[in-house]
Amino acid sequence: MRLLVLPGDGIGPEITAATVAVLEAASQRFGLGLELTHDIVGHASLKQYGATVRPELLTMARERDGVVLGPAATFDFKDEAKGEINPSMYLRKNLDLFANIRPARTYPGLPTRFPPFDLVVVRENTEGFYADRNMAQGNGEILVTEDVSIAMRRITRQCCARIARAAFELAERRGKHVTIVHKANVLKIGDGMFIEECRKVAAEHPGVTVDDIIVDAMMAHVVRAPDRFDVVVTTNMFGDILSDLTAEMSGSLGLGGSVNAGTDYAMAQAAHGSAPDIAGRDIANPFSLILSGALLLDWHGRRRHLPAFEQAARAIETAVEQAFGAGEVTADVGGKLGTRKTGEALAARLLAG
Ligand code: ATP
Repeated sequence: MRLLVLPGDGIGPEITAATVAVLEAASQRFGLGLELTHDIVGHASLKQYGATVRPELLTMARERDGVVLGPAATFDFKDEAKGEINPSMYLRKNLDLFANIRPARTYPGLPTRFPPFDLVVVRENTEGFYADRNMAQGNGEILVTEDVSIAMRRITRQCCARIARAAFELAERRGKHVTIVHKANVLKIGDGMFIEECRKVAAEHPGVTVDDIIVDAMMAHVVRAPDRFDVVVTTNMFGDILSDLTAEMSGSLGLGGSVNAGTDYAMAQAAHGSAPDIAGRDIANPFSLILSGALLLDWHGRRRHLPAFEQAARAIETAVEQAFGAGEVTADVGGKLGTRKTGEALAARLLAG
């Protein structure tokens, strides 16, 4: 498996280094033959190449089996004409990575205020309220006058149907329950279409139970009883917000792993941002990107029918579970280790089997 590794900004380089250590250990133990190519995005790329992300990276990504992308300082990147492009948007859009799979679960060794839960947010990734990916050219967010802005939300049947399929296929392998999260009481046309397409796909999966919840009510339901959810399918922005909440409920936003998947390509990317408030201090939790790496190995193993990759993914998840018991974790989840040592301890745990 050949991967392109792009560390990004803020805590990106620290959590990426820890992830690389763990992926290399997994490769060694399970004979995965991982080949990693390192390049740059974000501020480092802007400084060196005049753009936060270069078109060559797309070619490099396509020539490989996947990408590991660290978080980028997207808030700093305001003007595409100056090369300030959101790398995450650029790669998701151009590689057509329409499904953002964001699991959140509790761990026996990590106390939280919630009952044990294990759910996955399946978030549409290529349209919705994200105006920067809705147009063939230009941006769907427009400054009409100095005091008036308009943003365009695009919803298409095709994108609703394909994200629904991803959610129902996942539910078939899990607890066979899908919750559709929407705002169809206000966004009657777009979210009406989203529900309609989800219900059509549901009809092809009679063994999966389905319900739907309005997004604002979902905030209460998920906090009140997270254990009643299995797979939650939703549009782009709702999924982005909801999955940060569920990651934090699992113990820390720093546990929010995610994979962005298309029909034949996938990219590991933590659910959180570049966390400038804790960057460079060796305190960021690397488990988010490490778990994202595990999701990417699992995805690859399933697609290519390579059981060793699925085993490696399970072993990484098990090692993370055990790390909580052993206290080999960062301060956000009650430990004393730094980012680097947390990665090293996990890699050692994997190698020890
Ligand atoms: P950005 O502008 O890149 O989105 P942000 O700080 O606005 O950055 P996040 O990076 O998502 O948004 O961070 C939100 C909060 O969660 C911050 O307080 C941050 O320190 C914390 N956080 C995010 N990721 C981690 C992590 N891996 N480990 C520990 N804390 C984290």
